[in-house]
Amino acid sequence: MAGQTQAPKQSRYDVVIVGGAIMGSSTAWFLSNNADFNGSVLVVDRDLTFEACSTAHTNSCMRQQFSSELNVRISQFAADFVKNIRTYMGGDERVPELGIRNFGYMYFADNEGFADVLRESQKVQLAAGAATEVLTPAQIKERYPFYNVDDIVAGSINTVDEGYWDGLAVFDWWKRQAREKGVEYAENEVVSIAKNGAGTRVESITLKSGEVISCGQLVNASGPRGVETAKMAGIELPVEPRKRFTWIFKADQPLDRDLPLTIDPSGIHVRENGGGTYEAGGYDHDVPDVAVGYDDYTMDFSLWENQIWPVLATRIPQFEAVKVTSEWGGHYAMNTFDHNAIMGPHTVVENFISLNGFSGHGLQQSPAMGRATAEWLTYGEYRSLDLTPFNYARIPENRPIIEKAII
Ligand SMILES: Cc1cc2nc3c(=O)[nH]c(=O)nc-3n(C[C@H](O)[C@H](O)[C@H](O)COP(=O)(O)OP(=O)(O)OC[C@H]3O[C@@H](n4cnc5c(N)ncnc54)[C@H](O)[C@@H]3O)c2cc1C
Repeated sequence: MAGQTQAPKQSRYDVVIVGGAIMGSSTAWFLSNNADFNGSVLVVDRDLTFEACSTAHTNSCMRQQFSSELNVRISQFAADFVKNIRTYMGGDERVPELGIRNFGYMYFADNEGFADVLRESQKVQLAAGAATEVLTPAQIKERYPFYNVDDIVAGSINTVDEGYWDGLAVFDWWKRQAREKGVEYAENEVVSIAKNGAGTRVESITLKSGEVISCGQLVNASGPRGVETAKMAGIELPVEPRKRFTWIFKADQPLDRDLPLTIDPSGIHVRENGGGTYEAGGYDHDVPDVAVGYDDYTMDFSLWENQIWPVLATRIPQFEAVKVTSEWGGHYAMNTFDHNAIMGPHTVVENFISLNGFSGHGLQQSPAMGRATAEWLTYGEYRSLDLTPFNYARIPENRPIIEKAII
């Protein structure tokens, strides 16, 4: 923990949110902004500087290119929220106007099987109002002459509401306004959860500093540690921390146009970062992709030289001469069941609300997830967008939601 633990001001809250990063703060803000919600909210986080959470290590991009309609709709709300953030925040003139840098995502297929997946997904996306195009190698080369497409059979791209956005600015404003509207943030750690005799409801949490706080409803927004928070309530969550690396590099010869967030068939991705710099992401494909320790952020310095740069320089020959300027390791809270969000009430512990398993797409899902969770906490149902399919219940019922566009 970063600093001194803090004791909450009250001994009971209507809602306790465990984890105050992007998901916890989105939920807190949507609650505080809902005229029908009159309850008290406590957000507890181990570290209110948020320097070691997934949110701090994100690449902050959004896309419409998902294979399931609900995931497209979730990102569409993110785009609308970002583009109209000041209006959503009550016209508050302190809130900056934000936009999306629409360089798009370029999914490459190097075989007909995956090209068919891209074409099928495009149908879903078009039906939901997205502007995805599936291009031939010649069309790709015409629009983006810098790519080597010798091994590529198709590329899927959408340049509307798809690209970089300032997720940390949104996070900052959710926290600020939530606090101003009465949400309390405490730097502390939830170390245990007590349930009623029947085991059907959470009654209280215990903090590392010893206080016992009772609560009406509890939200697990603990990121990769969500599995530990769930365990405290006797709940199993199929989520684990998986390490993902990011590199920022400068090119000797910058590209003459924006580089889409390109998903190479190898799994490595790279995108525009502005000012002749680019951002690449990936992980070690030579070893099994397993869970790592919650505090293990060690950088693998050999990976760039051995795996990442050779792929990039082959795909974009202009990247033959580049220099890494910064690099870091972060954690996906990987949902090992079906890579999708796990949300809503637990099937037995009914006031234990999940908000977990966002893998590599949680930042863009945070507006829709926070809004939906706040609706659930207020009304006991989702009102704006029905996210019931993502409820925890699908796990014990073994009903995975297959999302084919996972990065
Ligand atoms: C390298 C990388 C790139 C990414 N790129 C993108 C992207 O381009 N687009 C996108 O949409 N998503 C992206 N993501 C995913 C996205 O960043 C995450 O899904 C999102 O930030 C998850 O937010 P969270 O609030 O659920 O978890 P976190 O940010 O991990 O926050 C969890 C919080 O819970 C707190 N906590 C845990 N346990 C306790 C406890 N017992 N008591 C008190 N507090 C506790 C922690 O201190 C932490 O602050 C990326 C992730 C990584 C790692």
